Amino acid sequence: KRLATLALHPSVWLEFTPLAAVTRSVNLGQGFPDWEPPSFVLQAAARAAAQPAATVQQYARSRGHPQLAQVICEVYGKRRFGGRVLNPQENVLVTNGASGAIYLALVSLVDEGDEVLLVEPAFDIYFGAVKMAGGTAKHVPLRPRYPQAQSAADLELDDAALEAAITPRTRVLLLNTPHNPTGKVMTRDELEAVAAVIRRYPQVTVVSDEVYEHLVYDGARHVSMASLPGMFERCLSIFSAGKTFSVTGWKIGWVIGGAALVQRLHNAQQFVVFSVCTPMQAAVAECLEHAERTDYYAQLARRMQHRRDQLLKALRAAHLQPLVPQGGYFVVADGAALPACRHEFPEGMQQLLQEQQRSGNAHGLEVDERTRHRRDYNLARWMSLQRRVTPIPLSVFYGPATADANDTWLRFAFCKRDEMLEAAAERLRQQE
Ligand code: GLN
Repeated sequence: KRLATLALHPSVWLEFTPLAAVTRSVNLGQGFPDWEPPSFVLQAAARAAAQPAATVQQYARSRGHPQLAQVICEVYGKRRFGGRVLNPQENVLVTNGASGAIYLALVSLVDEGDEVLLVEPAFDIYFGAVKMAGGTAKHVPLRPRYPQAQSAADLELDDAALEAAITPRTRVLLLNTPHNPTGKVMTRDELEAVAAVIRRYPQVTVVSDEVYEHLVYDGARHVSMASLPGMFERCLSIFSAGKTFSVTGWKIGWVIGGAALVQRLHNAQQFVVFSVCTPMQAAVAECLEHAERTDYYAQLARRMQHRRDQLLKALRAAHLQPLVPQGGYFVVADGAALPACRHEFPEGMQQLLQEQQRSGNAHGLEVDERTRHRRDYNLARWMSLQRRVTPIPLSVFYGPATADANDTWLRFAFCKRDEMLEAAAERLRQQE
């Protein structure tokens, strides 16, 4: 396992977040909101931080602050799992963000040589987490139902390909709906078809990343795999306060699942971070209660849908061919038609790297040398330098076998203020 971590390279985030800063670009790369969180969220944080020492200023209970675990059970039992009674001592673990939960799930379920099924394209963090767990990633494609598909709704997970990829060493199927990066929202029927396969293979646990659960558009509905018959005990469902309350910096996530599975993650968490930031957990408990009393989630989705539409318009005007997302923070678009869609590392990029090195590299710009000849990376670099809009290349969401075949696509985040999206639209319209 130690050797596996040595094989890790700088991730896409270490290049493109600094690159956006250095080029003063509109950063549509990393998915984090740039608006002020709602006032009820900030007030909850302020109140939690001011609580007496004994309540929230020391280590939290390692499984999660009791108040938060309790609220999660009440809210999610009702909202997501068809009225199931959840036990805060058994069915929940609060984690260091959803990413923390994904890491714990993989290290506690996967042994050296075990296999993890990723639905491709897959969020890049999954690849690193599988490697650190000592596992092998196997890929099941999310494919367009027909050529020239226009919407993420037209993507499908091929159940036969899924079943064909399962072996006796398969331990985990990592699902993600609403999906990063495409914005596909799996319907109940689609999930049921996957569940029908998984039910035949008791060695497989479904790790279901549902961090964009409330961000669904055009009437799409989020369904949890764990709500399907017989699936609760087979699933670990992962959620995120960062995405739900627009506070990605709080790093509070949670896992819900069968007692035995959650216990394994808890056992691991004790020896990794022990527990998670106490005052923020208390604040999230309040936020969840507030959201249940108001129409906060509907309002958030409405606003995000408007932002999505703004970005779609801008991309189309700039000759990028977008796939319309049904959920989440992102739009993927094909840049093949852009004149800059070539293989070369932009000259300006070389200069910029040298300048940054000379001046102490305060932003921490790093380039993974293996990506110098990748077309989508160079297109994203060109766009940052010449248009001052920063997307990320889509090939980071693919495994080594398929990355080259998917190297003209970019991912753009629309979790940004209207004026930033307007600025991006204007900059993208510029001619050469
Ligand atoms: N989930 C976010 C994204 O896809 C953040 C990723 C990260 O910071 N590693 O942009």
